[in-house]
Amino acid sequence: MTSNKTYDYVIIGGGIHGVGVAQAAAAAGYSVLVLEQTALANGTSSKSSKLIHGGLRYLETAQIKLVFECLSERALLLELAPDIVRLEPFYIPIYKNTTRRPWEIWTGLSLYSVLGKLKSDTRFESIPENKWSGLDGLATENLQAVFRYNDGATDDAALTRAVMKSASTLGAELVMPATFISSDASKEMNVVNYSVNGTIHSCKCRLLVNAAGPWANLVLDKVNPTPKKREFDLIAGAHIVIDSPPPNGMFYVEAPQDRRAVFVMPWKGKTMIGTTETAFNGDPSKVRPLESEETYLCEVAAHYFPKFKDLTRENIDSSFAGLRVLPHATGKAFSRPRETTFHVDKKLAPRIITIYGGKLTAFRITSEKFVAKFANMLPKRKRKAWTNKLKLKPVLSLITAIFLSTISTTTTLAQTSPTELSLEGALEIAKESSYSMRIAKYRELEAETTRKQVLASGLPHINGTIDYNNFIEIPTQVAPADAFAFPDYLNTYLYDLGVATGVPINAPPVDPNAISEFQFGSPQSASIGFTATQLIFSGSYIVALQVAKVFEESKAITTAKTEVETIKAVSFAYHTCLAAARNVETLRSALKLTEKVFQETKAMAEEGFIESNDVDVIELSVRKLKHELANSELQQELTLSLLLFQIGLPVDTKIELTDTMEGLRQKMNIEFEEIDVAESPSVMEQRYLYELSDWNFKSKKMSSLPTISGFYTNSQNAQRDVFNMFDFNEKWYPTQLWGLQIKMPLFGSFEGKHIRKKALVQTYLAATALELATQAAELELSAARAEFKRATSSILEAESNVQLASRIYDNVTLAHNEGVKSSFELTQAQNDLLSGEGILIGSQLNWLNAHARLKAATTTISK
Ligand SMILES: Cc1cc2nc3c(=O)[nH]c(=O)nc-3n(C[C@H](O)[C@H](O)[C@H](O)COP(=O)(O)OP(=O)(O)OC[C@H]3O[C@@H](n4cnc5c(N)ncnc54)[C@H](O)[C@@H]3O)c2cc1C
Repeated sequence: MTSNKTYDYVIIGGGIHGVGVAQAAAAAGYSVLVLEQTALANGTSSKSSKLIHGGLRYLETAQIKLVFECLSERALLLELAPDIVRLEPFYIPIYKNTTRRPWEIWTGLSLYSVLGKLKSDTRFESIPENKWSGLDGLATENLQAVFRYNDGATDDAALTRAVMKSASTLGAELVMPATFISSDASKEMNVVNYSVNGTIHSCKCRLLVNAAGPWANLVLDKVNPTPKKREFDLIAGAHIVIDSPPPNGMFYVEAPQDRRAVFVMPWKGKTMIGTTETAFNGDPSKVRPLESEETYLCEVAAHYFPKFKDLTRENIDSSFAGLRVLPHATGKAFSRPRETTFHVDKKLAPRIITIYGGKLTAFRITSEKFVAKFANMLPKRKRKAWTNKLKLKPVLSLITAIFLSTISTTTTLAQTSPTELSLEGALEIAKESSYSMRIAKYRELEAETTRKQVLASGLPHINGTIDYNNFIEIPTQVAPADAFAFPDYLNTYLYDLGVATGVPINAPPVDPNAISEFQFGSPQSASIGFTATQLIFSGSYIVALQVAKVFEESKAITTAKTEVETIKAVSFAYHTCLAAARNVETLRSALKLTEKVFQETKAMAEEGFIESNDVDVIELSVRKLKHELANSELQQELTLSLLLFQIGLPVDTKIELTDTMEGLRQKMNIEFEEIDVAESPSVMEQRYLYELSDWNFKSKKMSSLPTISGFYTNSQNAQRDVFNMFDFNEKWYPTQLWGLQIKMPLFGSFEGKHIRKKALVQTYLAATALELATQAAELELSAARAEFKRATSSILEAESNVQLASRIYDNVTLAHNEGVKSSFELTQAQNDLLSGEGILIGSQLNWLNAHARLKAATTTISK
């Protein structure tokens, strides 16, 4: 398939650099297409150490400019993407035998702080010895000092997705999966060919950006004519993730094996350790951590944390490796420059630009520099935004699929395999896409617009007018003929003059009953001008400003309240799905077991050991179980659809839940803080409504005050016999005036008094509703606490009942197999076990829901 569409930019690669350039280019007004062969951030951009940092260690190799730039970007990203980039404490322990001495670290941190413009987040300190025991079990033998400073941490893949989303809202398109196949730069434009699910597509572009990271030179091989490539080394860096509670900060340690820097850090509720530096040759998509690298990282962790002393590769939960693109050299990878380079095919008129190297942290500034550098290669475009002002919001991969489907017509989203969905993931998606959240966000936007609209109504208004009139007939005015008769003194004068000159001069005779006709003005007239008005004082306007502000704040609270409710509803739905799945699972294994017993009993009956009635009893059980299982499977499907509906996704989306009831229970924090219900979202929302009604009352009172506004008018008028308005030799007559207008209600038949009274009653109603909401929140809190307590005790009881029923069932099965117990007793024991398991599932569900309810009831928002 061929498309004739022409873009300013086609970008190969949906890593951080590809999407960063897409965002910066789209913000500058260029048309952009991104091609990504697998998924956003599937390359290095999801395999990094997830740090948004200046790179303290780059100070050792004097990469000052890079550190300064990265620290500025860190500050900006903390502001633009508070949900994706956060500040974390970093700890540097110094031991007797570590390479760097405390004074060296102190100097480095001081310089780091200066480069970070001495902002509060660049402060550092030395942790006193009596606090070392609180450092996640860090080994203290030979420990001399521990420094603490702050640096940024992120979810690299989430950041990449958020940047692409931002680019797409500015008009950038993404096609994924789409593999760049070839391009021909010999023509006037680059003709780009790419394949989507085996079908070839083409488009044209003025600039082709090769942001394929480690694949960059493989991409250049496919470009015609093939440009000169830059030599680089691929250095693999591996991380391992251990299923151990996350540390309370990042530990920056020195590997005892080779003195390299290694991080031990929190990652998604676990502990992550990385990285290594190993030269890599081969297909970048095949990079995996080597066994030796995994062992190396386990040893580093064990060396610094006695709790990991037995850590081996077998304990690794997951691991990944990414490829650094570093300038070709023979020295250690660590000391090579980390700056990004833009490599062009032709110096004077580049068509293909390759991005080599770089850091996640600096993606925005790198991309801005990129777009600025090649701006003169492209037609002038109207800028849409500045990237240093664009907020970045998290987008989960599932949402990515959905939003991509809306922005790219050529994207084929092969959703053949189900998408894995954890509870946390479901909640994140719901916060963005559930119907209630979407409505709440639109309401918030509406409120913000209302505030701006109110504000604007008090600013100067300027109206221009252009008038043109062409009289086909000029209006005729009539008046009594004597209205214009000569006055008596003039008649006398004319008579005297006639006598004196001998020429009689008499005024025409006037018929007092006749009327005269007059036509004033010229047939063609035009006027052009403007009037500026400015509100000077309006009591209602002042109040309206306050109301709009409170309204906007109240909508933000409503969104927060909706979020709490959405989290609760989605959690309930997710828990119910898990319970339904567990139910199906339990019934399936019960059915399997009963079918086995049935076969064995049947065989025994055929040999005459037991009566055939026994076989019938068990067969009946099998049938009942099959029936129940079919029902439960239907229920399971229904609960999944319900969950998707709550999340705001199409109900036929294929998903697979990754959490389990037990897993969730273990993960959940069961300590709930004491709260002041006045800070709960529902009470705060009501308080805002009360404030709004109070303002409404004030505004009604203010409406009896005068409104004062000023105006200024300036116009030019033309009166012509023919249309020659554009003849600049003809005259235009100016008119100018200014004035004040005071409006004041004088008498309104007591309507105003009743309106004010009604507004006052509404404040009483709102005050009562606030009291009601406070009491309801108190009640909900104590009910939720009681329910959680009850659920906790019943789950313990249900667990011990299942253990008992399971023991009984095992014994009865044994006895039945020996012919001591009847089939009736066996099915009875099985029913008891099944009902016990059913009760356990029910009480686990109740516990999880009670937890979600209590969490919602204890959620507060500080104003
Ligand atoms: C181990 C490690 C740790 C790091 N830690 C940090 C850190 O903590 N902080 C920091 O700031 N930086 C860090 N970095 C650096 C940073 O991660 C990288 O600079 C950055 O992710 C590179 O992004 P990229 O877009 O250039 O490449 P990639 O993320 O690799 O993106 C290239 C994309 O191109 C796509 N592609 C390739 N060929 C084609 C084709 N033919 N058609 C279509 N698409 C194609 C790939 O699928 C891939 O998605 C680290 C790097 C490594 C290796």
